[in-house]
Amino acid sequence: MSKLDIERLKAIVGPNNVKHDPADLYVYGSDSSVHRAAPDAVVRPGETSEVQALLRYANENLIPIIPRGSGSGMCGQVVPIHGGIVLDMKRMNRILEINLADVYCRVEPGVIDDDLNKALKPHGVFYPATPASSRIATIGGEIANNASGVRSVKYGATRESVLAMKVVLANGDLITLGARTRVEATGYQLERLFVGSEGTLGVIVEATLSFVPIPTFRAMGMVLFDSLDDAGDAIGAVMGKGVALSMLELVDSVAIKAVNNAMDLGLPDVEAILLIEADGMVKEAVDHELEAARVLCEKHGGTLTQLSYDPKERAKIFLGRKKLFPALSMYSDSMVSTALADDMAVPYSKMAETASKIHEIAERNGVVMTAYGHCGSGCMHTKILMDTSKKKSWEGARQAVKEIYEYVHSVGGTTSAEHGIGLSKASAFKREKADSIPIMKAVKAAFDPNNILNPGKLFDAPDDWVTATDLRYVASK
Ligand SMILES: Cc1cc2nc3c(=O)[nH]c(=O)nc-3n(C[C@H](O)[C@H](O)[C@H](O)COP(=O)(O)OP(=O)(O)OC[C@H]3O[C@@H](n4cnc5c(N)ncnc54)[C@H](O)[C@@H]3O)c2cc1C
Repeated sequence: MSKLDIERLKAIVGPNNVKHDPADLYVYGSDSSVHRAAPDAVVRPGETSEVQALLRYANENLIPIIPRGSGSGMCGQVVPIHGGIVLDMKRMNRILEINLADVYCRVEPGVIDDDLNKALKPHGVFYPATPASSRIATIGGEIANNASGVRSVKYGATRESVLAMKVVLANGDLITLGARTRVEATGYQLERLFVGSEGTLGVIVEATLSFVPIPTFRAMGMVLFDSLDDAGDAIGAVMGKGVALSMLELVDSVAIKAVNNAMDLGLPDVEAILLIEADGMVKEAVDHELEAARVLCEKHGGTLTQLSYDPKERAKIFLGRKKLFPALSMYSDSMVSTALADDMAVPYSKMAETASKIHEIAERNGVVMTAYGHCGSGCMHTKILMDTSKKKSWEGARQAVKEIYEYVHSVGGTTSAEHGIGLSKASAFKREKADSIPIMKAVKAAFDPNNILNPGKLFDAPDDWVTATDLRYVASK
């Protein structure tokens, strides 16, 4: 890599949009993962032409470029393991078009998910692939991670909402991918390749997204289970019968304890809770789906409580799930909640077994782990709660992560459901996708022959996540 020409960067984006003092480099050296590595500069483009000029300069000088949204990714995707320029895309945050007749909107990549939904709401429509981090996550980051969320069980992940995009390639060329139509069979669907590409193929500078009508009726309830296994069986039964829920979330006993400890919400002391929700334009249809879910859950030992159409009541029911992240951070004074082995997907029939296995592996390795998530889409979230000041905890976490992915792969599950790979999950990803990685590498080389775009990630990431970068925590004991 040549020495960075800061004056050249300033000439492209303006002096206020280039940062290189140590405090800024420190802040941009991490995301929501355990990793840390400082970039050489942070640049904030405001226009596509600036992105093109920056990439041309970086490509000529072999300087790494790390596209970044809000840095809420949990696996180190935006941690600049080889230094270079972090391309902060948040200034490109214009909503360019809301087209109700053709049911799409066009946005720049730095638009925050909640802001898009605020703009869509007066038109009676919403963008549904929203993750729990919607207050901060950008559309560019969501596309590059294939983010999904609580309603993806009905409306799909980001992939299902992306119709088209404009992308700046490593050499600075601007290309258009996809189409504004619902269907397209016009050659390779390259826009799909960019969904989940984690900033390694190009910089997304515009996205065309579909949206859906805001349903007139929405009802939510809580199903209580004395046995986690029964909750797992109920998930399989509900999904197997095609019950059209708009939310099917699992909360296990560790998570219940965490939320009750932190917020005194008085969640029932049971082994598992399923949150169920249905929505639609016709109340009888919503009732029908919820009744079908109730019957199936009861068959598997569940008891439906607190069912309500009232928005305030629904918000109360959902509060425990919503506050789970901060609650886990407050689980114990000596423990930190870390995003490790945090979002695999497994077949429905393995949901309960996976949750039990996670608890067993955690206990054996001296860490605490939860099991919760968007189980209607097969997504199982975990967090590893551990004393990050102790080297022994990191060894336990390393072993637990390894065993969990071995198990997940053995039952036909996949390494990541929605948070992506980055650095933290690279070795599990490499094991799972061993036979297709040569093709992925060829694709990467076709888009980015000089390997300047987010280098050292996915298949090029180190195998051991503990030593891949500095950690955000100091383990001294
Ligand atoms: C509290 C919390 C809750 C979360 N809940 C969820 C959840 O429910 N579902 C979920 O899926 N995720 C969740 N996440 C993870 C994360 O928020 C999402 O994956 C989100 O989509 C990342 O958006 P971002 O703007 O922060 O992207 P970043 O973290 O900044 O970047 C993510 C990836 O996108 C790439 N990228 C960013 N912009 C561009 C661009 N313009 N062009 C090309 N590549 C780009 C980056 O290089 C990187 O690889 C959560 C995170 C937190 C902290």
